[in-house]
Amino acid sequence: MRGRGAKDPIGTRLKGAMARAEPPWDCPLCPRLVAYRAQNRAAHPDWFNGPAPSFGDERARLLVVGLAPGRAGANATGRPFTGDHAGVLLYATLIKTGFALGAYEARIDDGLTLVDCMITNAVRCAPPGNKPAPAEEAACRPFLAARLTALPHLKVIVTLGDVARRNIMRALGLPASAGTGGHGAETTIGRYQVINSYHCSRLNTNTGRLTAPMFEAVFERAREVVEGAN
Ligand code: URA
Repeated sequence: MRGRGAKDPIGTRLKGAMARAEPPWDCPLCPRLVAYRAQNRAAHPDWFNGPAPSFGDERARLLVVGLAPGRAGANATGRPFTGDHAGVLLYATLIKTGFALGAYEARIDDGLTLVDCMITNAVRCAPPGNKPAPAEEAACRPFLAARLTALPHLKVIVTLGDVARRNIMRALGLPASAGTGGHGAETTIGRYQVINSYHCSRLNTNTGRLTAPMFEAVFERAREVVEGAN
């Protein structure tokens, strides 16, 4: 966990296209999320409590898109999926398929690095009940669109769950319903191959809707496409 105090180290650290791809720590766009953030800052001043910045390799060919930070997970640690239950399977799978190196220890300083991969969220601030409102998705979407543009080598986008999938379609200028739905389904959009996965949430893994082999298969397929064996 790390408190941010009154500073905005993310905003000042990022430059050029990268700056537009990442909202500032005090992003004012969504009143409900700003109020929730203020509540979390008051209750947990040692937490990150801001838009969790995208994490990974600026030269990535693979982008993984989640939903939004969990309140006591990515919102607390400041790294997508870090401290969230969903991160356990996601990071294990990325390590197994060669998209991450090191050990995931649910801490931002665990030394884990992503290889040819970046992780971001459709909505960057933690929403109450893990459910962003449609207006919040829309307000955050320009950052997602800029994130795509800022990755010059991007080939494959893995969407985790339907909110991620819909927002990627919209960020690419298509209707939210565009593309093929369902776990493992793929859609080619320009130079990108979009691969859907069920979200690696506790609900999906506990109910068996998503198993580790099903999840791994998505990243093995992403590997094939990244390496040009499509
Ligand atoms: N944590 C994130 O950062 N994103 C998700 O989609 C879920 C948990």
